[in-house]
Amino acid sequence: MTSATPSTRPTETVDVPSADADVARRVLLAAPRGYCAGVDRAVVTVEKALELYGAPVYVRKEIVHNKHVVRTLEKRGAIFVEETDEVPEGARVIFSAHGVSPAVHDEARRLSLQTIDATCPLVTKVHREAVRFADGDYDILLVGHEGHEEVEGTAGEAPDHITLVESPEDVDHVEVRDPEKVVWLSQTTLSVDETMETVRRLREKFPKLQDPPSDDICYATQNRQVAVKQMATDCDLMIVVGSQNSSNSKRLVEVALEYGTRDGHLVDYADEIDEAWLEDVATVGVTSGASVPEVLVRDVLDWLAERGFEDVQAVTAAEESLLFALPTEIRRDLKAAGQDVKKVQHDPSSIPSGREGSLR
Ligand code: SF4
Repeated sequence: MTSATPSTRPTETVDVPSADADVARRVLLAAPRGYCAGVDRAVVTVEKALELYGAPVYVRKEIVHNKHVVRTLEKRGAIFVEETDEVPEGARVIFSAHGVSPAVHDEARRLSLQTIDATCPLVTKVHREAVRFADGDYDILLVGHEGHEEVEGTAGEAPDHITLVESPEDVDHVEVRDPEKVVWLSQTTLSVDETMETVRRLREKFPKLQDPPSDDICYATQNRQVAVKQMATDCDLMIVVGSQNSSNSKRLVEVALEYGTRDGHLVDYADEIDEAWLEDVATVGVTSGASVPEVLVRDVLDWLAERGFEDVQAVTAAEESLLFALPTEIRRDLKAAGQDVKKVQHDPSSIPSGREGSLR
């Protein structure tokens, strides 16, 4: 554990349910948490597109799975659509960080849309693996959640070769054409432990099962889970800031409970926290999913400080400094507008303030 960072700003009197006034209250704050490189790139892409081209800018699906981010970008003029055919012919559309299948690119071309692809490069890496193994006529077992946009995009790269495996229990039903030629890939935002259990069972069934060339569960998902695992046994309650449709955020609650935290909840905003959750709680763990702006975590820390949880100790599992270059079209047009492309992305170490209207 590293140094304590006290949070301040007690502004109102609140009732704190507590069984023992002598027990010191504290917060363990996970690091890393919040924005990953892929989310940062996707959000900046929409922000810069609005600046460069003016509103409206269309975005297919939620640019990242976070309610606050989507609402804030909507206020600035982004229009979120479910499908490409909702975008007016010839208009500009941004594809979300979760990636799209080749069929979506084809449809955009048919409608003469100007596309900007904000797919996370680590998702694109999985797409390329799928194409490569399909070209080699492998059966690809894709571990992931049915209906998730990333899975739809990856599966769309090689629909005749990919079988979705959702859980360890699913393995019993999996069939392949040739057990000598089978590989597993995965969604980037899964629970590491559950995925490894699924793969263990797959390998029992198909001993020649090949691994992906490199980890598909991304660095950000893994690091956030490692930090939660380090804190979990010390926490009575884990508050994960994130949206219900955010896969990696939901996994953080599951990991906390699995590793010993008594109670855990996912909240979009501090005002969703229930005072009753604090009953008999001495230590609260706080973290956030990879699509969550830091300002929302600060609001949770303020909320907790107002209830006596002013001692905040960081639990650091890894340092992150990765930054992905913006999509080519945005870089080109920023340069043409005289902006320094290198300076437009977020500083991962910056401490944000404010809530509405600011993503940071
Ligand atoms: Fe990319 Fe991982 Fe972030 Fe998803 S969670 S956007 S795969 S870095």
